[in-house]
Amino acid sequence: MTLPSSVSIVEVGPRDGLQGEARHVATADKIALINRLSACGLRRLEVSSFVSAKAIPQLADAAEVLAGIERAPGARYSVLVANERGYESAAAAGADEVAVFLSASEAHNQLNVGKSIADTLAKLRPVARRAAADGVPVRGYVSTVFGCSLAGKVEAARVERICGELADMGVGEISLGDTIGVAHPPQVQAMIEGLRARLGDLPLALHLHDTLGRGLANVWAGLQAGIRVFDSSVGGLGGCPNTPGGAGNIATEDLVSLLRAMGIACGVEEEAIRAVARFAASLVDHPLASHCAYAGGTAEERA
Ligand code: MG
Repeated sequence: MTLPSSVSIVEVGPRDGLQGEARHVATADKIALINRLSACGLRRLEVSSFVSAKAIPQLADAAEVLAGIERAPGARYSVLVANERGYESAAAAGADEVAVFLSASEAHNQLNVGKSIADTLAKLRPVARRAAADGVPVRGYVSTVFGCSLAGKVEAARVERICGELADMGVGEISLGDTIGVAHPPQVQAMIEGLRARLGDLPLALHLHDTLGRGLANVWAGLQAGIRVFDSSVGGLGGCPNTPGGAGNIATEDLVSLLRAMGIACGVEEEAIRAVARFAASLVDHPLASHCAYAGGTAEERA
């Protein structure tokens, strides 16, 4: 086993986190949050979503957010899109990357996007084609990879087929979502090994949720299986609106703390990201499911 000297973090709090919040967060506060996140050293940030404002009213201000942020040098600002129209809006607003999404579970995909997996893939192909022509990187999210609250067990072969379809249409990175937070380390490793046989060295990311407290254990499994990109959300914001009781994403500050303790660089300043997590909590007006945001002491004391 070879551990990497560095990994990348994709901060998804401003999109995945805020989309599920009941409280309205003002555009100016979203912009402040994103600017604070990039100031911590984060260089990949998913900042909003160009999907139907009716479906996700919390992110209806995506264009204003993109126009209002300070672009940190070297940072990549990504947005979620569901179809060609969303892609056009995202490109016009200056997104550096777009992310497309679907579920490995047919039932969850129907609930989440109101379409079959086959029909969703058909909507995503032109997005990938247009983005390739424009030189815009495309990330693909596959959710419910490790289990589904509606369908139960999700067969690895399904995940491999769907990821294969995304790879074939030109998606440059696939993020494997443990949407309901039920994955366990050997399952993570087996899934990644199976996918490698189909996808070769296509970059894979893990998008872990901490529902059952397994998030960081699964990060460790992913590291050993060769994963070098991890999604996380400041303060552990987020969850799936279609997953009752689903806890948030793993918290960025918890991930940063673990990586720092293991000597793996991620470019994020630990004390600064903890402060941003507390700022995020103030925006949503409830405590967050974060281990490190409220932990006392210096980094050395907590090591
Ligand atoms: Mg998530």
